[in-house]
Amino acid sequence: MTDPIQAAAMALLHHRTSRLAEGDPVAEPMLTTATFRLGDQPAQDAIYGRYATPTVTACEGRLSEIEGAPALLFASGMAAIAAVMLATCRAGDRILLPADGYFHTRVLGGEMLAGMGIETVEVQTRDLGDADLAGIRLAMIETPSNPALDLVDLAAFSARTREAGALLAVDNTFATGFLQRPLELGADIVVASDTKAAGGHSDLILGHVATRDEALHDRLADVRKFAGSIPGPFEAWLLSRSLETLELRLERMCANAAAVAARLAAADLAVTYPGRPDHPDHALAATQMRAPGFVIGTDFGSKAAAERFIAASGAILSATSFGSTHTSADRRARWGDAVPEGYLRLSVGIEPQAPLLDAIGRGLAAI
Ligand SMILES: *Cc1c(COP(=O)(O)O)cnc(C)c1O
Repeated sequence: MTDPIQAAAMALLHHRTSRLAEGDPVAEPMLTTATFRLGDQPAQDAIYGRYATPTVTACEGRLSEIEGAPALLFASGMAAIAAVMLATCRAGDRILLPADGYFHTRVLGGEMLAGMGIETVEVQTRDLGDADLAGIRLAMIETPSNPALDLVDLAAFSARTREAGALLAVDNTFATGFLQRPLELGADIVVASDTKAAGGHSDLILGHVATRDEALHDRLADVRKFAGSIPGPFEAWLLSRSLETLELRLERMCANAAAVAARLAAADLAVTYPGRPDHPDHALAATQMRAPGFVIGTDFGSKAAAERFIAASGAILSATSFGSTHTSADRRARWGDAVPEGYLRLSVGIEPQAPLLDAIGRGLAAI
């Protein structure tokens, strides 16, 4: 049987090359146009740049190979999340969100949509398995959660949402389709910020949505068209290029993360990483995810110790966000997350492992 992730990686890498005619450029061209020459009966999309443009469509083709479903590209992860909410909910509907989920998703639901009569309810990720789903129109969850890295059993939860008549959208930003495949586990919608690992080079803001439900896909395309949340071709072109190395980057990032987590645990720090046997969702991570990811939570005991660790390492960038080529650290308490002052979320990069572990060692020596 073909491995679905390897098949997706192959299809992605040959997405353009398999369609080339003699003389066509091998690399994806970046095509900027706002308008198209029209005939009497305009073709579906080649009308106006807010509907679609060739470089955006080409990037969507690549994302579709990864997701195994038609994908729509949006100007940011939040634009994609907003489109899902707008396409599926109307006044009187109720959205279920993780109480420890992405902050702006919760603001969008809890403050903006609330004012339009769409109610949101929040449940901690670790309690979602028992959450009351009665009356929920849309459940939008994250697994692993951020920054606690709790997992949701997607097969079990999608069965429950289906039974309750709710749509399940999974924000798959952390894992990407190369580490976790929510649609194959029963989710209706995958949404992701491509600003993170998918883009992976800290140089673009993008997001996408994928669904196998044709009517929903069309409605999402309409939301994008009418709300105007399509990205420009340059970002789409950058993402197409980044996607070609995504599976390869993830392999190095996850291998590095396992090694860094082991090094931190060996220093007797409290380490949260789904790849470690002491993580409460270790067994689920092993079956649900291709690899347990590249994000590690570590409590250094105090704000000062966490900051000494970063400074002394000489190779850990202090930055928010995650999923880039370089290892970075974000002290989440500064954003008000319910974590200790000394808790760092480390996003492990693609550095060669030995010098990366040397840097971790230097940081540990300073705490
Ligand atoms: C970053 C992020 C988003 C928002 O994406 P943007 O591209 O910044 O709009 C949504 N969900 C998760 C889990 C994220 O990490």
